[in-house]
Amino acid sequence: MNKNVSILGSTGSIGTQALEVCEKQGFNIVGLAAHSSVKLLSEQVRKFKPKYVCIYNDEKYPELKQSLADMDVEILCGMDGLCRIASVKENDIVLNSVVGMVGLLPTLTAIGARKDVALANKETLVAGGSLVMANAAEMGVKIYPVDSEHSAIFQCLQGNKRSQVSKIILTASGGPFYGYSYEQLRNVTKADALKHPNWDMGNKITIDSATLMNKGLEFIEAKWLFDLEPDQIDIVVHRQSVIHSAVEYNDYAVIAQLGVPDMKIPIQYALTYPDRFECPTKRLSLTDYGTLTFAKPDYSTFKCLGAAIDAITRGGAYPCLVNSANEEAVRAFLNDEISFIQIGEIVSSVLEKFDYSDINCYEDVMKADKRAREYVRSLI
Ligand code: MN
Repeated sequence: MNKNVSILGSTGSIGTQALEVCEKQGFNIVGLAAHSSVKLLSEQVRKFKPKYVCIYNDEKYPELKQSLADMDVEILCGMDGLCRIASVKENDIVLNSVVGMVGLLPTLTAIGARKDVALANKETLVAGGSLVMANAAEMGVKIYPVDSEHSAIFQCLQGNKRSQVSKIILTASGGPFYGYSYEQLRNVTKADALKHPNWDMGNKITIDSATLMNKGLEFIEAKWLFDLEPDQIDIVVHRQSVIHSAVEYNDYAVIAQLGVPDMKIPIQYALTYPDRFECPTKRLSLTDYGTLTFAKPDYSTFKCLGAAIDAITRGGAYPCLVNSANEEAVRAFLNDEISFIQIGEIVSSVLEKFDYSDINCYEDVMKADKRAREYVRSLI
């Protein structure tokens, strides 16, 4: 199989694993973009020889230029550079794995250029789900989920009729503080929160996994990707992260997807769909696990989760508001400005603070994003 792939966020956890997959499958890399890691990005350019490279942080542009002075590559920067790489004609597919709301415009730009998108940037669908899905349908563009849960659901849907799905079961690891009371959460530190039992990820998503906001964002993502009502999505805590999610049909047959907790499997499926090839990962041995466990999530302790579900049930700009408030709160937590439980308090308070407003265009998303961020900063 020959494919031309661009990767936005190539130096992050998903990006580096995606390059490993592309190398194994012999895919051609068209463009690479990173936030600010000049050194790793330069190494990737030397190895994969893309036609385009972009550094989002434009202060790092001179450094990148100097480091690649001997290479035949077009060097770009900022949001313009990200959008350029997202839309160049050479792309067959664009993997968007940037972190945060920054990913929305490049996703919309790729769709506008009729490029299929492998989507690992959750915030894109959380904040702009209605826009992204409507634009993709209009342009005939496919959005392939990269997130392990959504990839699992996508895999469980193959060969069945969407109209005969009764609900989906979104599994959650429960994060490092599973079983904690709200009182116990008061004392957790940044170091505790940055340790995840099953998945090795970037800092933002690791904190989101500890607060369960990550599952809340995934709930919203699932609603958009699979055209579901919020009451068709169940969350089940499954500590081993072996079942990556499941789909229940009208006859109550439930189809689940299993595998070792390694993102390379869903990344590769998004890039090779509908084909399956050997993946650079381990095989699943169920007998090594022995026992798989399931439990209900604790909504009263992990306030972000309930807030995210409440937000998508209300609709309009609420999902964008809770997402942006969460981005700001996580940043403040990582800067030691607020405690762990304050993240949940801040995210929940957004639902009371703002009245309903609609999302009809990109500018509406950006307006809601700005309002939520200003509100959170005023609290800190
Ligand atoms: Mn996930």
